[in-house]
Amino acid sequence: MNEKSWAEALKPVKNISLDDRLFLVMRKIDKVSHIEVDQEKFKAHPDPEILWVCPAKVYEKNEETGECIVHFDNCLECGTCQVVNREFVIWNNPNSGFGVTYRLG
Ligand code: SF4
Repeated sequence: MNEKSWAEALKPVKNISLDDRLFLVMRKIDKVSHIEVDQEKFKAHPDPEILWVCPAKVYEKNEETGECIVHFDNCLECGTCQVVNREFVIWNNPNSGFGVTYRLG
């Protein structure tokens, strides 16, 4: 990519929601989740931070069972869940060839 192309790529895109931006992230989705949640520890936590800090809304509480639903295909591989809830989120790198492809590294 030449210098002008980089400048174009880095230009902010206006009038696009965060959800729409996240939709544009290129991913190759594996059939197997790279994220596991210890459901008992999740249920025992009064207010699991992953429900509100994950930028891709990977974690959702099932209000009927109290368990955590993991939408692993949305993961941006940012690592935030490993900082806030490492005690019950087991996050591994996606298998080789799968996961997010960032255009700018
Ligand atoms: S790595 Fe980031 S995007 Fe992926 S599940 Fe954890 S907090 Fe969410």
